Amino acid sequence: MKCWITKNGLQIHRVLLGRCNCYLVTHENRFLLMDSGTKTSWKRLVRGLDRFGVKEDSSVALALTHCHFDHAENAARFKETYKAPILIHRSEGTLLKNGDNPEIRGTIFYTKVLTAILSNAKLAARLRYEPAEYDVPVDEALRLEPYGIPGYLLHTPGHTPGSVSAIIDDEIGIVGDAMFGIFPGLVFPPFAVDVPLMVKSWKNLLDTGCSTFLPAHGSERSAELLKNQYDKYRKLYNS
Ligand SMILES: [Zn+2]
Repeated sequence: MKCWITKNGLQIHRVLLGRCNCYLVTHENRFLLMDSGTKTSWKRLVRGLDRFGVKEDSSVALALTHCHFDHAENAARFKETYKAPILIHRSEGTLLKNGDNPEIRGTIFYTKVLTAILSNAKLAARLRYEPAEYDVPVDEALRLEPYGIPGYLLHTPGHTPGSVSAIIDDEIGIVGDAMFGIFPGLVFPPFAVDVPLMVKSWKNLLDTGCSTFLPAHGSERSAELLKNQYDKYRKLYNS
């Protein structure tokens, strides 16, 4: 399993790889899980957590980068199993409580056609998941020290209005779907409700000073690559 270690020794393990990468941040026996993955990956998630010492009585919190189903399907089960508080942006808390998805809108030809054909109501009904009560709403930023992790959650909207990223030790950003790591040399995601706002969030992510970004889909992206993409897209979208 892939692992990143910051200069101060914080470890970030990719405990789930696939339809949604889930990252576990560990520091002095405290844990933060970023995103919960799909229902079908629950057993793999539990095995991955167990491997790094997360037991049912561990001190662990769950932060959701946003509540699209592939990130939130295990949230209720995780909260119940590990007695974990759930952190999510205030604007998506009610969606999570109802098991609903934020709007899904395509950004490239194929996904634009796809989201135009499927009505949002139909799509939303098909993608519903087990509702989960959240505990801590995030606004513009939220420090993670109360959960034992040096870092903070930062509001990085665009993919969804309430997308957040975790900035760990001012070095590594866990960014959910604010960028994708699937297409070589690119970070542009195939879905976003507000592309100009997302490009502004890229600037905010660059300003954190992080050198590496970990997306929920695909592999890590460097700050150099993000800078290159930001310079290209800010001209296109006047961001
Ligand atoms: Zn998403």
